[in-house]
Amino acid sequence: MKILVINSGSSSIKYKLIDMDTEASLGEGVLERIGEAKGKILYHSHPGTSRALTKKIEAPISDHSHGMEWILSLLTDAESGVIENRTSISAIGHRVVQGGEKFKAPALIDDAVTESIRANIPLAPLHNPGALSGIITALDMFPEAGQVAVFDTAFHQTIPAKAYRYALPDRLYTEAGVRRFGFHGTSHRYITREAADYLEIPPDKINLISLHLGNGSSITAVSGGKSVDTSMGMTPLEGVIMGTRSGSIDPAIISYLADNTGMSLEEIMTLLTQESGLKGLCGYNDLRDIHRAAAAGNEQAELALDMLIYSYRKYIGAYFAVLGRVDCLVFTAGIGENDSVIRERVCRNLETFGIEVDPERNRDLSDTCSIISTSSSRVKVMVISTNEELEIARQTQMLI
Ligand code: ADP
Repeated sequence: MKILVINSGSSSIKYKLIDMDTEASLGEGVLERIGEAKGKILYHSHPGTSRALTKKIEAPISDHSHGMEWILSLLTDAESGVIENRTSISAIGHRVVQGGEKFKAPALIDDAVTESIRANIPLAPLHNPGALSGIITALDMFPEAGQVAVFDTAFHQTIPAKAYRYALPDRLYTEAGVRRFGFHGTSHRYITREAADYLEIPPDKINLISLHLGNGSSITAVSGGKSVDTSMGMTPLEGVIMGTRSGSIDPAIISYLADNTGMSLEEIMTLLTQESGLKGLCGYNDLRDIHRAAAAGNEQAELALDMLIYSYRKYIGAYFAVLGRVDCLVFTAGIGENDSVIRERVCRNLETFGIEVDPERNRDLSDTCSIISTSSSRVKVMVISTNEELEIARQTQMLI
């Protein structure tokens, strides 16, 4: 069975066609600048194999429907294609950022599901409209394929009220739906399953702390295979320090800025989401640049690193208290998978928590799933490459 995974944003579509027999990618890529004069199209066929081929095309992509036509023509192209025609695609899995309280699991897409995703637009105004465009287009183009929506928030729907509610007047939850949702759920779920498999712990027994550290980052406490708390909140702005997002701050700072700087609410939100975090602290949002600057004596970069690591460690401490027993700590995503210095510093001096990292194992990762703790470390420390597309494909297959 071949499943096409679609991650459709407002002006881009990421796609991956997965052969579920081998779980390998047959073809994948991204379309960017939809609606602009010059669109960018990237396609890799048979990535990571001897048959690998890459195409880069610059051409206008008028809308999502046009974008999906491009994807189909690349996947079926005589020279670089990997399937014969559209009927070779059995199912399509769509990534949807916000499922609200309604979606606790993936959903087979019908009119009611499409309407519910639309109804959640106020909760994710930057993300859900793009996903909806992708879904509507795919329903039209692939009427015979089973179509499934997989929500970033669904894995966190097991979080108890004591952790998902904010201490605000009750009506703000009951009437306005203000609560913590959490994000990166597809990644945290994938990590949980991979760690359980690797450590040979039943998936419903594993307790772990999952650190998805990328440009956007979230840390999740998993008890008995279920999410019980997570650092992101009603939106992906809350939690640890991120590339350009502030993470948690005193909310009174917002009114202070409005009163004292004349900034509008919109300007303040842009500041908090796009100009803060690591970028706000030192001018760079990529860890590789920050390490370079810190090594050259840039004090702002050094402070940004110290603050970043400190913000991760505070959540680790908190989630040890939440979970009681922790089987493993798992690092994933751009920073988690690639930055051995951050991993070492995050785990430093945590022997009383049962955490001991082996410097060599941490430097030389053996596989897409590696243990980097010492053999005597009570808590295993792991690095697992996340694969959100595969998780979406697996869930799509399960549902159809
Ligand atoms: P996104 O949230 O956009 O999905 P990613 O998970 O791809 O982000 O992570 C991107 C970030 O990962 C980069 O901004 C950079 O800070 C970090 N990163 C990527 N590669 C490396 C590397 N080799 N060393 C250190 N950090 C890295």
